[in-house]
Amino acid sequence: MTGGAIEAEVAVIGAGIIGASCAWHLAAAGIRTVLLDASGPAAGSSGACDGYVSVSTKTSATALDLAAASQALYPALVARLPGRTEFETCGGLLLIEDEADEPAVAAHAEAVRGRGLDVRLVGRAELAALEPGIAPGMRGAAFAPGEAKVNPYAMTLALVAGAQGLGARTLWPARVDAVERIGARIAGLSTTAGMVRAEQYVFAAGAASAALGALAGVVLPVEPRRGELAVTERTAAAPRRVLVSGRYLAAKSRPEAAAGDADAETRLGYGFVAETTATGQCVLGSTRVFAGFGRTVSPEGLATIIAGALRRYPALAGTRVLRAFAGLRPFVPDQKPLIGRSRILDNLIVATGHEGDGITLAPITGRAVAALAAGRTPEIDLSPFDPDRFTPCQP
Ligand SMILES: Cc1cc2nc3c(=O)[nH]c(=O)nc-3n(C[C@H](O)[C@H](O)[C@H](O)COP(=O)(O)OP(=O)(O)OC[C@H]3O[C@@H](n4cnc5c(N)ncnc54)[C@H](O)[C@@H]3O)c2cc1C
Repeated sequence: MTGGAIEAEVAVIGAGIIGASCAWHLAAAGIRTVLLDASGPAAGSSGACDGYVSVSTKTSATALDLAAASQALYPALVARLPGRTEFETCGGLLLIEDEADEPAVAAHAEAVRGRGLDVRLVGRAELAALEPGIAPGMRGAAFAPGEAKVNPYAMTLALVAGAQGLGARTLWPARVDAVERIGARIAGLSTTAGMVRAEQYVFAAGAASAALGALAGVVLPVEPRRGELAVTERTAAAPRRVLVSGRYLAAKSRPEAAAGDADAETRLGYGFVAETTATGQCVLGSTRVFAGFGRTVSPEGLATIIAGALRRYPALAGTRVLRAFAGLRPFVPDQKPLIGRSRILDNLIVATGHEGDGITLAPITGRAVAALAAGRTPEIDLSPFDPDRFTPCQP
């Protein structure tokens, strides 16, 4: 402490899965780290989402590459963490609902296979054998046996506990209210828990990253894209693999298509997802809407999720829905995360904007951020994720 300030080599702002992974990788590299959060770990989207660690739900070549690299890191990372994460290689099915879906899912499977993943198309009969609860009308699926799932809340807590075990300090509740700048450097953070001073700073504030960036004078155009989920009681009818409708990909990649459409599924950006938790409950998702920072579940969203799930997975009929919640995906207009060292502020590293992929992308993001902080070149090419790409050119 200097003048009452908390000091570290690196201060990470945001204890969602991205900030927690950054803190763990920094601490594992022997860097003195403080991780702080306005509320606490997993208070944001990381505590209100599915846990599909997936390559096949990524919609661009860049996203597929990044997801494949990150998914490959998961088994070794979870093996090093204390406590449970419920990580499991369960396999995934990208469903073909009708004839119109077929070419898109087949082309997508080919692109995923190009990243070295085992994916094959299965027809109606094999799909029914794999998952008997699926609606008989489904035409088939792209089956990826290597896809995985994790409990996102437990994973975030395990990363935090792991970072603490490696010597990282944690601080919450500590909301950053002001950023002190001296020239092109951050000199300190004024937080609700006092001043924090570090040599380098990592901004990992999820959907609230635009406001945090503005405090420091950097443009981080992250918008909250709300997603609602419903959770059933424990049921023997729950699927073994993670199920995603092929149309989920369209809902994810075309934000402009939704608003104003007469069909509720299209209007709400609905994509069918069903994932079974370690307790045997079924998590059903999800919607995708731009509706500010509210996290209320809308009756229309919940009704659409339940009706959509029963249409595609009728085995859940008679299963009770116990609860519903909403999370805010950190959306960036060009649908690529912001990961890298800022050129506006010398000692700022940005790690945000992972939209619906942050659980999958946490390991690779944390690893790249730790490399940058240590002055090393990350193993992956971060140029597509340049955090300054939305900043107007300086005269
Ligand atoms: C319905 C839904 C389903 C999803 N399913 C999946 C999935 O299956 N697979 C997948 O890979 N991803 C999924 N996601 C996406 C995933 O949840 C997010 O990409 C990920 O959680 C983002 O993590 P984060 O750490 O960036 O943000 P968050 O988890 O939101 O964490 C940000 C943290 O920053 C803190 N913070 C903000 N401002 C400040 C400040 N000024 N001072 C201090 N702290 C601050 C907040 O309190 C918060 O804890 C889903 C998301 C939703 C909504």
